[in-house]
Amino acid sequence: MALLNVRHLRKGYGNTVVLQDLNLSLEKGEVVVVLGPSGSGKSSLLRCINGLEPHQGGSIEMEGVGEFGKDVPWEIARQKVGMVFQSYELFAHMNVIDNILLGPMKAQGRSRAEVEAQADKLLARVGLLNRKTAFPRELSGGQKQRIAIVRALCMNPEVILLDEITAALDPEMVREVLDVVLELAREGMSMLIVTHEMEFAAKVADRIVFMDHGHIIEESTPDRFFTKPESGRAQQFLSGMDYSI
Ligand code: ADP
Repeated sequence: MALLNVRHLRKGYGNTVVLQDLNLSLEKGEVVVVLGPSGSGKSSLLRCINGLEPHQGGSIEMEGVGEFGKDVPWEIARQKVGMVFQSYELFAHMNVIDNILLGPMKAQGRSRAEVEAQADKLLARVGLLNRKTAFPRELSGGQKQRIAIVRALCMNPEVILLDEITAALDPEMVREVLDVVLELAREGMSMLIVTHEMEFAAKVADRIVFMDHGHIIEESTPDRFFTKPESGRAQQFLSGMDYSI
């Protein structure tokens, strides 16, 4: 069994079906990049996996943990599956370190000293140890996103979901955030990534999953996907993208 297993997932908003019989697994240490046109259901898939959106059918299961929302409550599932969003979702009234400490101390009952030691190491790694007491409004978008990544990592998740984390950033800040993700991938973090950065996708992915209209229509290695996409839909998608690999 893979680390994370999504089986026969079905999701709708009202009468609109956005994910249909979707099957996807993620091995430990694997990086899967989900690509697809806007509205194909990528974000809904990630949001279902950590329970931000309820699903109407199928299951999401983690090896050694059980089925989310059934064998284990979503509060526990969310500790196993961290998520970073396009919009950072940092609390504006809290400084950096308090934003980071909140989840581990409140949800996991860990001591301030222990989490802060872990946070300090991670902040140093992303070059932001000197911004510990800054408030989100004092940080650039790229800095906020690196803090959001540290916050997710401090929960010690098994898997991290990244939903378009550079989409709101000015171009010069994209690199500093993607470099952090590339380093996490090299260290063996299991990740499911939605991105529009094709060169980054090609570099970071072990596997590309291409979605359209709520279905996975192609799964491939990055090399094969970017040089010889099989489906007409993927060919069309890539032809509309500006990248060089
Ligand atoms: P993607 O991430 O690939 O752009 P989404 O998962 O955001 O796709 O959206 C898939 C479909 O679901 C789209 O048609 C979108 O309009 C719709 N959708 C997304 N979120 C909601 C919502 N909260 N309520 C109603 N429809 C939604």
